[in-house]
Amino acid sequence: MSDSICIVGGGAGGIFAALAARRKIAELGAAPIEVHLFERNPRIGIKILISGGGKCNITHAGPVAELLKEGFRPKKEQHFLRSALYRYTNEDVIALLARRNVTVHARENGRVFPDSARAGDVLTAFEQELEAESVMLHTASPVEAIERTPDGWKLTVRGKQLLARALILATGGMSYSKTGTTGDGIRYAQALGHTIVPVRAALAPIYLRQTPHESLVGIALRNAEIFIIKEGKAVASEHGDMLITHRGLSGPAVLGISNRAAIQMETGSISVEVNLLGQPEDILGERLVAEARTRPQQQVSTWLEEVLPNRFVPIVIAQAEVPGDRRWNALRREERIRLATTLARFSFGPVAEVPIERGEVTSGGVELSEVDPKTMMSRIHPGLFFAGEMLDVAGEIGGYNLQAAYSTGWVAGEEAINFLGKR
Ligand SMILES: Cc1cc2nc3c(=O)[nH]c(=O)nc-3n(C[C@H](O)[C@H](O)[C@H](O)COP(=O)(O)OP(=O)(O)OC[C@H]3O[C@@H](n4cnc5c(N)ncnc54)[C@H](O)[C@@H]3O)c2cc1C
Repeated sequence: MSDSICIVGGGAGGIFAALAARRKIAELGAAPIEVHLFERNPRIGIKILISGGGKCNITHAGPVAELLKEGFRPKKEQHFLRSALYRYTNEDVIALLARRNVTVHARENGRVFPDSARAGDVLTAFEQELEAESVMLHTASPVEAIERTPDGWKLTVRGKQLLARALILATGGMSYSKTGTTGDGIRYAQALGHTIVPVRAALAPIYLRQTPHESLVGIALRNAEIFIIKEGKAVASEHGDMLITHRGLSGPAVLGISNRAAIQMETGSISVEVNLLGQPEDILGERLVAEARTRPQQQVSTWLEEVLPNRFVPIVIAQAEVPGDRRWNALRREERIRLATTLARFSFGPVAEVPIERGEVTSGGVELSEVDPKTMMSRIHPGLFFAGEMLDVAGEIGGYNLQAAYSTGWVAGEEAINFLGKR
């Protein structure tokens, strides 16, 4: 049998594993090694195509140390990814795209997009690279089973069996399952003895038990602060923009807090409160006193229309139990306190669900302590490697998740070739 490595999953992780493997073979002048990439869909990289609303937030600009700190909240994830992110950096992927005439720019917030604003251009560039590197691409080819053999791995693909000396699993997370990510690789890893951290929604919207008032749907709140409340206490908070939807809440701040909300929900019910103006309650209280002094004749609702989207005002007034025509000079002390509390802690009520299927990313997956971060190789099965979202890594919004997939894929690809060389 000629030496071969098989990569399961043609997303960012699998694509970069294949490219790195071919480059390593060329660098080492190794004897012929076939690199097979299997993807269940008719085309690779579906998630790249839908990423960033079809514009593809390719990566995040800045030094690697900052990417690690800003992009991955848990220290465990930062430590695990450090070596991979330094080995294949954001600059590396930008240079690869430049070679394929895909120029990019970074927005003020560091998010990097193609100048064309077309995710398709990014994917085409990756496909051209795979072709140039003679990767053996098998689309519409779901891997149906995996077995350990004394010599390596046996894969079943559309009823046919194939042998490989090294295997890279890169089948992604478990959300947006229509894109092909149904968790196959996670199940294979579990069957091979790996611990699986429970898979949960991350970067997902929050659905509410009582859906928002119709007049609120579509409202965007800038610089608000969202709180997850459990047993009367705030157990998580996040600052940023958010959006009110038919089923609940979405937008960057909500996506950012969704994983912590999903974890809290496992042990009890939670509700959501939002600081509508993003200012602490005592400062807000002082602000209301000052407003009452400077514009005594003005209706409180007129001021609220200046600081909040107009459609929100009647709902806030009702929750604060302040008469709609109340003027500042007639506003009672207790009404003012209720208004400050409502603005600082507007209640959206109990959470119904943090839908895993709608998560742009899923947290959980293969337990990191069972994978060598320098090689992405399983500590249980030599010759088995992991890449991308199926690992227990979930980055923030901002291009971090794709970068984690390129980098871990790159390391897995190179190290799979090194592994074959050492045998
Ligand atoms: C709507 C949306 C928008 C996003 N936007 C961004 C963004 O702008 N920037 C960013 O950084 N991240 C973004 N993400 C997250 C990012 O896309 C993923 O984290 C990243 O693509 C993960 O790469 P991966 O290679 O690990 O997995 P995936 O890209 O999910 O690829 C896994 C592949 O494996 C295939 N597969 C699964 N099982 C099998 C099998 N048995 N046999 C063969 N093939 C199989 C699947 O079909 C799939 O193509 C977004 C995600 C979503 C859902």
